[in-house]
Amino acid sequence: MKPGTDILILGAGVVGLSAARRLVSSGASVTVLDAVHPGGRGSRAAAGVAIPSVRLWEDADMLAFARAGRATLAEDLASLPEGPTLRRGHGILRVATDAKSRDALADKASKDPEGPGTWVDAARLVALEPALEGTPLFGAFESGHGHMVDTEGYVNALLAAGARAGVRLRLGEAARSVTETDGGVEVRTDGGTLRADQLIVSAGPWSAGLAGLPALPLKPVRGQMLVVHQPGLHLTRVVSGPSYLAPWRSGEIVVGATEEDAGFSEHVTPAGLLHLSATVAKLAPRLRDARFVRAWAGLRAVTVDGRPYIGRFPGTLRTFVATGLGGQGILTGALTGASVTELLAHGRCDAVAPFDPARLVSTGSPGRTGG
Ligand SMILES: Cc1cc2nc3c(=O)[nH]c(=O)nc-3n(C[C@H](O)[C@H](O)[C@H](O)COP(=O)(O)OP(=O)(O)OC[C@H]3O[C@@H](n4cnc5c(N)ncnc54)[C@H](O)[C@@H]3O)c2cc1C
Repeated sequence: MKPGTDILILGAGVVGLSAARRLVSSGASVTVLDAVHPGGRGSRAAAGVAIPSVRLWEDADMLAFARAGRATLAEDLASLPEGPTLRRGHGILRVATDAKSRDALADKASKDPEGPGTWVDAARLVALEPALEGTPLFGAFESGHGHMVDTEGYVNALLAAGARAGVRLRLGEAARSVTETDGGVEVRTDGGTLRADQLIVSAGPWSAGLAGLPALPLKPVRGQMLVVHQPGLHLTRVVSGPSYLAPWRSGEIVVGATEEDAGFSEHVTPAGLLHLSATVAKLAPRLRDARFVRAWAGLRAVTVDGRPYIGRFPGTLRTFVATGLGGQGILTGALTGASVTELLAHGRCDAVAPFDPARLVSTGSPGRTGG
């Protein structure tokens, strides 16, 4: 990166902030804009499970990306002063309800070099996690690869590290349109017009709605989350079935997450709470009368083929996009930020070549959804 290059980043989530830190340390002059204060709308809503999902096991490129993402996340956490306090729990139990679902899990895992983990039967499952007592579960595969991240703390730590390194933060200022000029990029915002040499759009599901940029087949998928607390009953591992339970702050347990096509609405609904309560009843009936602590909703950015968009916006010269991480953006956000930085500096990044948005983007009107 040529020292002094002006870079503008739209979106102060884990992706935009991870890119900003790297760019500023390579000598660029970096401004990050977020429509809301204090930014990181999707990132703050996440549970923070930093473990590749079973859904990725069938896509070799995605699985490799997720595992590399886990390593980059670990390095980034180690580089943040708050890092050691941001990790929670250890490992995951992927539960099976019967022998058939156990075999299906083991079969899927044959594509993962880490394998499914160690099989634990129902009795051992309850010995490991007493909160699961009373469930009709058959058993689970236990894997120690991974943990959870305190997402609120992670975004705050990235904001603080960026500010210390010289990143200019403009939180609470939305970008409205983008125009590429001969010498650079102009972005019209709520507060005026900003100019830069290059632009990164890392605005989560909102990345598709900017006037002046090609259409992106991207849609918001709402996730609702619930936190409960019952003294004496906590979890030390993520417990994953169709939905999941996981260790939260101070012995609390987080229950996630719905997957809803609800446009850009970010509110909690009775139907969402019902779904999450049913997960509690199924996976941990002892928590049925636990104290309700908090519920919230957030949006994931989901692409048509389940793979992210990381690359140049087709039809542009100086505008890059980094979004579409679905439900794995805490795990892969740091690597996505690092990869888009490499793209800006060198014009290519092999790790994300399969995720070039040119594969799907049309040049029609913005905001088309899909997936
Ligand atoms: C309920 C839920 C649970 C999740 N659980 C997990 C999990 O356990 N593990 C995991 O790995 N991932 C999880 N995810 C996914 C993860 O949160 C996201 O993939 C990741 O945070 C995306 O980060 P981002 O930086 O791309 O987007 P965001 O954090 O959403 O940041 C984008 C920012 O762009 C800003 N913006 C929008 N429009 C504009 C504009 N016009 N101008 C300027 N700024 C703009 C927004 O305000 C927002 O702050 C979960 C997501 C949800 C919703």
